[in-house]
Amino acid sequence: MTAVSHLRVVFLGSGSAGNATVVTDGSTTLLVDCGFSARETARRMSLAGLRAEDVDAILVTHEHSDHIRGVEVFQRRHGMAPVACTMGTREAAGFSALSGGAVRLVAGEVTRFKTLSVVPFATSHDAAEPVGFRIECDGKGCFGLATDTGVMTAEATEALADVDLLGIESNHDLGMLENGPYPYYLQRRIRSEQGHLSNPDACDALERLASSKLQRVFALHRSTTNNSASIVKRELGARVAAIGLHIPVDVAPQDRVLDSDPPQATLFADESEMQ
Ligand SMILES: [Zn+2]
Ligand SMILES: [Zn+2]
Repeated sequence: MTAVSHLRVVFLGSGSAGNATVVTDGSTTLLVDCGFSARETARRMSLAGLRAEDVDAILVTHEHSDHIRGVEVFQRRHGMAPVACTMGTREAAGFSALSGGAVRLVAGEVTRFKTLSVVPFATSHDAAEPVGFRIECDGKGCFGLATDTGVMTAEATEALADVDLLGIESNHDLGMLENGPYPYYLQRRIRSEQGHLSNPDACDALERLASSKLQRVFALHRSTTNNSASIVKRELGARVAAIGLHIPVDVAPQDRVLDSDPPQATLFADESEMQ
């Protein structure tokens, strides 16, 4: 693998059909969630020039299938990297029979994977013990990931206060959700405190998390039914500008890879409005 002198984050895909993100500093490579099949995850990694065999650990945010679909097969097929998650996620996901190793993560406690430090923080979601992650490499940067959370928890706000790269859920537009095809009970679930962050929720979170260190924002888990990439980009971009930050906001697509390399560049155009 090519050495990088900074933290590189590659979103392999983001949304309710599957989530997976690679974080690497060139020495250590972490896969965060594996919500696609193992084969599809490896394929998307190869598109970004990454090797599945280089994964040192598979971190899991929570047990929903769009985050764990390929975990067991990926571990078995690609080097037996340990699966790292909270005890609640491990039990709810049925990871007790993993063929490879497991690492227990505890919210608020640092776990080191070679050159990368990981701090999980509690999120608020309809799952057993869900977490987001702060992933840091000394001198090379810090990435924060907060997705599948109905509210920005105090723990999330604290953990993400000074990250360089931020991935934050911007799931739905309130008007599109209300006027869209989802039945009322599902709308309530999405909007609940254990659901998903809306575009305005993500904007408010950005305002709280804004710091001079923040270099880039990636909007995650966008609903293809109840949101559009252009709305997300416009609303989050406007809020970032209003805060006085001049940084790019990108929307991670469901069907394509979004790479933080090269730094400060948008590699891909917005996802099509057709979806
Ligand atoms: Zn999800
Ligand atoms: Zn979920």
